[in-house]
Amino acid sequence: MAYHFETRCIYGDRSNVTEHPYRSIPTPIFLASAFGHERIGDFSSYSYSRVSNPTRSDLEEILSSLEGAADTVATSSGMAAVSIVLDLFSIGDHFVCSEDLYGGSFRLFDNIGRPHGLNFSFVNTADPAATEAAIRPETRALYIETPSNPTMQVTDLRAMREIADRHRLLLIVDNTFLTPYFQTPFDLGADIIVHSGTKYLSGHNDVLAGFVCTKSPELAERVRFIYKTTGYTLSPFDSYLCLRGLKTLPVRLERQQENALAIAKWLREQPCVKQVYYTGLEDHPGHDIHCRQARGFGGMISFHVDSEETARKTLLNVQLITFAESLGGIESLITYPMLQTHEDVPKAQREKLGINDTFLRISTGIENAEDLIADLDQAMNS
Ligand SMILES: *Cc1c(COP(=O)(O)O)cnc(C)c1O
Repeated sequence: MAYHFETRCIYGDRSNVTEHPYRSIPTPIFLASAFGHERIGDFSSYSYSRVSNPTRSDLEEILSSLEGAADTVATSSGMAAVSIVLDLFSIGDHFVCSEDLYGGSFRLFDNIGRPHGLNFSFVNTADPAATEAAIRPETRALYIETPSNPTMQVTDLRAMREIADRHRLLLIVDNTFLTPYFQTPFDLGADIIVHSGTKYLSGHNDVLAGFVCTKSPELAERVRFIYKTTGYTLSPFDSYLCLRGLKTLPVRLERQQENALAIAKWLREQPCVKQVYYTGLEDHPGHDIHCRQARGFGGMISFHVDSEETARKTLLNVQLITFAESLGGIESLITYPMLQTHEDVPKAQREKLGINDTFLRISTGIENAEDLIADLDQAMNS
C-alpha cells in the first residue's frame, strides 16, 4: 500500500532508514564530488556529483513521490529551476504566462529569455478566453502560477490543460505557493512543475533551493540532460537542509494556514485596510475554482491599506514580524512587493495589477496567531 502524504514527506515511497550506512536515521550528507568505480564501464552507481549525489537523490525521490513525478531534479535555487525550463525551448518559441508572476521569473523571461530569442505574452490566466486568445502559431507552452504572486489570482488548471491540448502546448506550473501538500498540478494536467524549494518545502528561511518535476519519462530525460550539462545542482549540504525541512511540511503548513486565516479575518475588520486578498476567504473571486483544484489555501495574504503612510508605518513598526522578502518559512514576514519582489516589473504593469504603494504581502509563520495580530495592531493602528 502506498504511504500517505505525511509519511512520504519523511521517507518517500520506501522506508530508506535501512539503506543508509550504519542504519543512520537521517540521510547522511555525502560531500564527495566524485565516487570510485568498481568495474570498468559500470555507470550504474554514483560517479560525479554534478550528475548525481546520494544525499540529493534522496531529496529528489521524495519530491517525485510528493508531486507524483516521473523524475525530479534539485537545483541551487528556484530561479535555477525556472532557467532549466527555459533551456528546453529554442529560438522563436513563444510562451503565454500568467501576468502576475513572481518578479524574478518575469525578470528572467524579459531580460534573458527575450535576448535569447524566446517570446512571452503576459495575460490574466484567470481568464481562460484571454489566455487562449494570446496563443500564436509559435506558442509552445503555458506558464502558470496559481494562486499568483502577489495578487492571489486563481487560474483554473483543468481549463489550462484543455487549452494546452487544443494547441499542443506544454503546461508548466510554478507550485511554490501551495506545495504538493495543498495542490498536485500533475493530477490537474500539468507537464512540468517548478518550485522554489527556498520557501515552504525547506521552510526555515535558511536555504536556497529549487526543483523541476517532470510527468513523462521523455521530458524527464531532457531535463536531466540539461541539468547534468549546465550544473544547476543543489549542494549535498543544502539537500540535507531541504530533506530535514520537508519532514515537517504538513504540520508547518497546517499552522501557517490557520494563522493566515486568522490574520486575514482580522485585517478585514481594520478601518485602515481597504481590501484583503486570501483565497481562503469565501468572497475571494477565485475561491470556488481554488476549492475544486486545491486542498488548502496556504499562508500567503496580501492587502491594500488606505494610504502609503499606513503601509510604511506598518512595515517599519512591526516587531515580531520581520520586514523582509521571501516567504514560506516558520518566521512570519511582511513585504512591500512594489519595491522588493516586483521592482523589475514595469510600473504600468504593476499599477494595473494593483501592486502600488499601499499594497502589502504577509507570509505567515508558525508563531501564535494572537501574538502576530497584536504585532500588526500596534504597527498599523498606533
Ligand atoms: C521565490 C520564488 C521563485 C524563485 O525562487 P528562488 O529560490 O528565490 O530562486 C520562483 N517562483 C516563486 C513563486 C517564488 O516565490
